[in-house]
Amino acid sequence: MGYKEQARMEDIANHTDTASYGPDFPDFTSVMDDCRGRLRHRLSELLSTEQLCRQAGDLITTRTEALVDVDEFTLPVVSLTIGNPDIAKHCLLLTAGIHGVERIGTQVLLAWLETVIERCRWDSNWRSQFESEIAIVAVPLVNPGGMLQDSRCNPNGIDLNRHAPIDAEDKVPFLVGGQRISKAIPWYRGKRGADFESEFVALQNIIKRYCQVDRPSIVVDFHSGFGFQDHLWIPYAYRRQPIDDIGSYVALKLLWERNFPHHNYVFGPQAMHYLSHGDIWDYFHRQCRAEGITLLPLTLEMGSWLWVKKHPQQLFSFAGLFNPTVPHRHARVLRGHLLLIDFLLAAARNIEHWQPKGEQEREMQQMAQSLWYRQL
Ligand SMILES: [Zn+2]
Repeated sequence: MGYKEQARMEDIANHTDTASYGPDFPDFTSVMDDCRGRLRHRLSELLSTEQLCRQAGDLITTRTEALVDVDEFTLPVVSLTIGNPDIAKHCLLLTAGIHGVERIGTQVLLAWLETVIERCRWDSNWRSQFESEIAIVAVPLVNPGGMLQDSRCNPNGIDLNRHAPIDAEDKVPFLVGGQRISKAIPWYRGKRGADFESEFVALQNIIKRYCQVDRPSIVVDFHSGFGFQDHLWIPYAYRRQPIDDIGSYVALKLLWERNFPHHNYVFGPQAMHYLSHGDIWDYFHRQCRAEGITLLPLTLEMGSWLWVKKHPQQLFSFAGLFNPTVPHRHARVLRGHLLLIDFLLAAARNIEHWQPKGEQEREMQQMAQSLWYRQL
């Protein structure tokens, strides 16, 4: 047994309650040994993930959270951890690639993780935050099978972000808001009452393992494809009424705007744009809330319509609808979100310093009312 495996076994022995969420799959490297050579032109994002982990050495710990069979491959859903989530006081959870066709989200997340690792090497202050203040848990490819197949859905034809057992309270856009008609049409939710898909279970295990009552967490889920601008979406997707934590979201928005007044994001509730069934963050937020756990999910929805508008040829490539194809624009997107994610890392680490309580929280709720909910 190698050093790492032994450490892991001891870790599991010492923390059976948290580590026990999720089965023990073979480690990331051995899963990759079976497919690495054949993935080169089909799933470079998974190869980049492995390369990042190799370069990071001890700074990143990996765990295989699920195995997905697709075509002739068995692909890992892997989580990357920076810091020690067993003792960290806060957690930043980053997920991308839930929709397999939105590769740019995975690439933006990997680009940011690279900067985190590089900075750990020379900035001792930066590095020390990962001793006990905060842990980063990242899942860069939640849906590796979908990404391999250039599909929004997973290999079973299910849209993982329409899959949670939660129905919208009002009308959703036809099909796009989630449908149970057929897996041949995108946005398929799966059969009612069927088992959860393994990628969904993987995320659920991660949240149960790392997000706890005394450890508030911020989540950023990376997507692309909607609108001309970059949106930061506040849940819910299933209803127009404000989420219980709306006061915290307003405080976070104001903090962001005070610190970066020239930013270019539209920061507001998703429900202002459209409702959908089965949103996983609606579901996980409600699950956590019921157990007294603070979980503040945000969706970063990178507006791809602008990329298409500036380069209409992209319309003729399916991937081009969701990803920048011109090199200078691609580079701009990769660097464009670094500041925001740095900020959210600091916000998660310092949540006690800005999360409103009592009277302050009521003021923030009123502000939310006048910003977004006057019609209700
Ligand atoms: Zn998406």
